Amino acid sequence: MRRLSLPLLLVCFGALAADAGRDAPLATLPYTPGLEPSFMDKTVDPCVDFYAYACGGWQRQNPIPPDQSSWGVYGKLQDEIQRHLWGLLQTAADPSSARSPVQAQIGDYFAACMDEARIDGLGSKPLEPALAALAKVKDRKGLAAWLAEQHDAGSTDELLFAFGSEQDALDATRFIAAAYAGGLGLPDRADYLDQDPKSKELREKYREHVVRTLQLLGDDAATARKTRDLVMDIETALAKATLTRVERRDPYKVFHRVQLAELEKLAPAFEWKTYLAGVGIPDTQVLNASQPGFLKAMSSELKRRPLADWKRYLRWHLVNSQARYLSRAFVDEDFDFNHRTVQGTEALSARWKRCVRWVDRDLGEALGQVFVQKNFPPELKQKTLQMVQQIEREMEADIRGLEWMSPETKQRALEKSAAMANKIGYPDRWRDYSSIKLARDDFQGNVGRSAVFETARQLGRIGKPIDRGEWEIPPQTVNAYYSPTMNDMNFPAAVLLPPLFDPKMDAAPGYGNTGGTIGHELTHGFDDQGRQFDAKGNLKDWWTKQDAAEFSRRASCVSDQYSSYIAVDDVHVNGKLTLGEDVADLGGLILAYRAWRGATSNQRLMPVDGLTPDQRFFVGNAQWACSNIRPEAMRLRARTNPHSPPKYRVNGLVVNMPEFGQAFSCKPGAPMTKPPEKVCKVW
Ligand SMILES: [Zn+2]
Repeated sequence: MRRLSLPLLLVCFGALAADAGRDAPLATLPYTPGLEPSFMDKTVDPCVDFYAYACGGWQRQNPIPPDQSSWGVYGKLQDEIQRHLWGLLQTAADPSSARSPVQAQIGDYFAACMDEARIDGLGSKPLEPALAALAKVKDRKGLAAWLAEQHDAGSTDELLFAFGSEQDALDATRFIAAAYAGGLGLPDRADYLDQDPKSKELREKYREHVVRTLQLLGDDAATARKTRDLVMDIETALAKATLTRVERRDPYKVFHRVQLAELEKLAPAFEWKTYLAGVGIPDTQVLNASQPGFLKAMSSELKRRPLADWKRYLRWHLVNSQARYLSRAFVDEDFDFNHRTVQGTEALSARWKRCVRWVDRDLGEALGQVFVQKNFPPELKQKTLQMVQQIEREMEADIRGLEWMSPETKQRALEKSAAMANKIGYPDRWRDYSSIKLARDDFQGNVGRSAVFETARQLGRIGKPIDRGEWEIPPQTVNAYYSPTMNDMNFPAAVLLPPLFDPKMDAAPGYGNTGGTIGHELTHGFDDQGRQFDAKGNLKDWWTKQDAAEFSRRASCVSDQYSSYIAVDDVHVNGKLTLGEDVADLGGLILAYRAWRGATSNQRLMPVDGLTPDQRFFVGNAQWACSNIRPEAMRLRARTNPHSPPKYRVNGLVVNMPEFGQAFSCKPGAPMTKPPEKVCKVW
């Protein structure tokens, strides 16, 4: 989905992070225990700041590497995995070794990417065919055809709008085409509209970045400045018409199934038929016009401005979307704005890291096969499945016991829980990339052809039976997700490795950590967004009015609590943006705790390393979240990320669990406790 648009409704466990550190491939993944006492800071009172108590040592031992904007347990594990994949790719890249067909694919892609001398020698040459085609565009039909070609080859989202396919929210048994809002170069709509000094400064830096990039492309300063002003005008108009991230959390606000004729009426200045033919689906009759207000505004802007303006605007976005694949001058300029300025990152990642990430993105399941063979024993799948089933049983018991929910709604909720599918480790059937032509001497060509493959795969799903075995992220990704339209939970192999899941440890930290993750994904099916989809994945209201009101009241308790937290400086957490994740975190940990208690009810649990079993459960949970984050990245995160800052993903939960106060003998009134009448509980 990376190429076309973010899957709007996938809810992941963590903010995707990456890497840093010493530069050598890892033959095997290092072992970090699931609970590490030296990561704690026992000088802190757990009843005052539990996150600092559980993670203070980790924070001191793990400063943010220069090429990272943040650094946490997930990111560090992902980095180790990347280093391990780097070694696998070096072997695969050697044409004299006995390579399997899959190794040859990933190896050739990697070798081409690593050929920096060749890439630098080409300068902006790889963009020339697309730029020449844009220069020849004579009318709106030509514009639509050019856009289709560029979207097809991977330059999406920021090229005016985004396009892809998704499950029809009203009939989840099929995929339909979808047109999304896009066209922006800054991370969020608010970045164009807010008037605070930080937002103004960001816009000024963006303006300079546009000029410098265009000058690299050969424009003189005056021409580049003219284009910059035009770009800001167009993007500000598009930003105004774009829904906020909080609005986009409402599935009804981003789902508008229309006939092609209705779309043509809504946005008449765009040549939809030409575009659809261009992306290879000329017979399309039904689409999701995700944000009609955006498409309408896009059309009126198209009508209002001369074609020449659009060609200049698109020329900027083409180079902006491709800069990181070009020669060093473009790469540095792209890094300087998008990473240094926007996220506070100090240094560009090593070439090998960027190349591993691109192989991962473009040939993820090919790389995944090689990864899984070495790192994911079948017993682990069985063990995880067992924990998933225990937690599902707890969810069902919870639903049955809810005092605020009527029997009718309970019945529907139980049906949904029973229908939820579990996918663990890796796909049963691997994606076949063999039709992509990968050349050892054509990096940008490989990127483009991989994108064409991915677009064809996504659009090819339209009108065909749903493949429920598909995964949205490959097995080497340290993350997990729930899809409300598939009604499935997905746990890639990488999220089931130590220190996240450590079969060598006592049960308590494992249930706190991985159990919490499983409970989190399961609860997503019943958060403010997920609850609006039924057992089959259809957007359908199965709640009585009274029960829905009761749910909202409980959810407000959570969003009010998180909105009171400060992310950085004077920036608060946006509790409405993070609501789904916060509800999932809280419900997930409660379910995990009960599952752990149930699974160990006939055992006599003993303290380990000076921590009682209950304390180990909570510390094990907290230690997935240990992180350091740069202030710029925290600022960006507060605006754009549906996950609360890690500190609150820990402290925000324990205040709502009386079991925590008991485990650490907290006195009433301590910061990590709440009076019973103030405790938030949804599930
Ligand atoms: Zn989540």
